Amino acid sequence: MEFHPETKCIQSGWAPKNGDPRILPIYQSTTFKYDTSAQMADLFDLKANGYFYTRLQNPTNDAVAAKIADLEGGVAGMLTSSGQAANFYAIFNICEAGDHFVSSASIYGGTYNLFAVTMKKLGIEVTFIDPDDSEETIEKAFRKNTKAFFGETIANPTCRVTDIKKFAGIAHKHGVPFIIDNTFATPILCRPFEFGADIVTHSTTKYMDGHAMTVGGAIVDSGNFDWEKYADKFPGLTQPDPSYHGLAYSKAFGKEAYIRKATAQLMRDFGSIQAPMNSFLLNIGLETLHLRMPRHCENALKIAKFLKSHPKVAWVNYAGLETDKYYELAKKQFNGGLPCGVMCFGIKGGREESIKFMDSLKLIAIVTHVADARSCVLHPASHTHRQLSDEQLLEAGIRPDLIRFSVGIENSEDLIADLAQALEKI
Ligand SMILES: *Cc1c(COP(=O)(O)O)cnc(C)c1O
Repeated sequence: MEFHPETKCIQSGWAPKNGDPRILPIYQSTTFKYDTSAQMADLFDLKANGYFYTRLQNPTNDAVAAKIADLEGGVAGMLTSSGQAANFYAIFNICEAGDHFVSSASIYGGTYNLFAVTMKKLGIEVTFIDPDDSEETIEKAFRKNTKAFFGETIANPTCRVTDIKKFAGIAHKHGVPFIIDNTFATPILCRPFEFGADIVTHSTTKYMDGHAMTVGGAIVDSGNFDWEKYADKFPGLTQPDPSYHGLAYSKAFGKEAYIRKATAQLMRDFGSIQAPMNSFLLNIGLETLHLRMPRHCENALKIAKFLKSHPKVAWVNYAGLETDKYYELAKKQFNGGLPCGVMCFGIKGGREESIKFMDSLKLIAIVTHVADARSCVLHPASHTHRQLSDEQLLEAGIRPDLIRFSVGIENSEDLIADLAQALEKI
């Protein structure tokens, strides 16, 4: 039986048997015991499914990954130590030196840097496109050696909304999967697989954890992309892997091939695992995700309206506002029509006034974080994105006066009062 998201948040992943702990246990063990050498050998050959070393798999992590996969409607999932690791693995699992991929330019600064600078050093090239460009223009970025298309459901920090159906259509026309970072929307507000996306990534550090306790990431595969159909393009998935006695993932694992490969190869070799203690905490966060997301949205809409009508505010980007460029798309794509609790805006007078305003806030804190229970602000041009050139900033759609505001789940009147007193000071 397919449960509703609220039930999945609570019940999915850990299914205790008779006499088992009611609550997901923390398997705080690096290793697992077997009776015979042959049993362990089968695990190393991927012939049997089981635990042997926590760098590859751990039962606590797997239960939480299964919950996230279930919420997204995917066939398999895995946890990583951070959102950065999730996005790196998601691309590196299908791209190698000499390959190319296409990405929206409107993405998280850390991901932009990973793609533009670090992946380039590995011989993997990226072409950034403007997500609002026509299909025709975007398609020009695709090449013979293009292996993936990447975007963010709601871009951090610009709050631009990706038309998932359009992006997935372009990817499929060119025989590559569409990978989408669904961190800001979460599966409570948007399930990208329903719009044709193939692979979803998350920084679980944000809404999923929800309390700013643990850094983490996740990858979920829909199981829908047909690797065998493009066998020559994705040899890593379809051809024998010499490090596993010639096993071919697509043949051995079918729909789970992508996640099984990412676990067996990338986790084995790079080791960006999530600590079981952290995934236990993440699981507690996930239990209330369905309660928190609507409240974040409700508060954000009230605040966006307040800011929009304030004479000292130059502009507000929040797709829940009827005047927003992405309003219609948000209505179609997001459960309840509202796009999470993050918005951005600028203060009249530009960069200096925006900074002064931020420094005058009392309840709303300046922190390098976003999407948790506590309201916070950040100035990307002088914080998260300060390593980007002005040209790159503009390419990513970030104005120098842009304030990213992550609306928490406090009382909205208290938040508005804090904003009002800070606006008064400028
Ligand atoms: C924060 C963030 C990341 C990076 O995640 P970490 O957990 O900080 O490594 C990736 N994508 C988006 C959209 C993010 O907001």
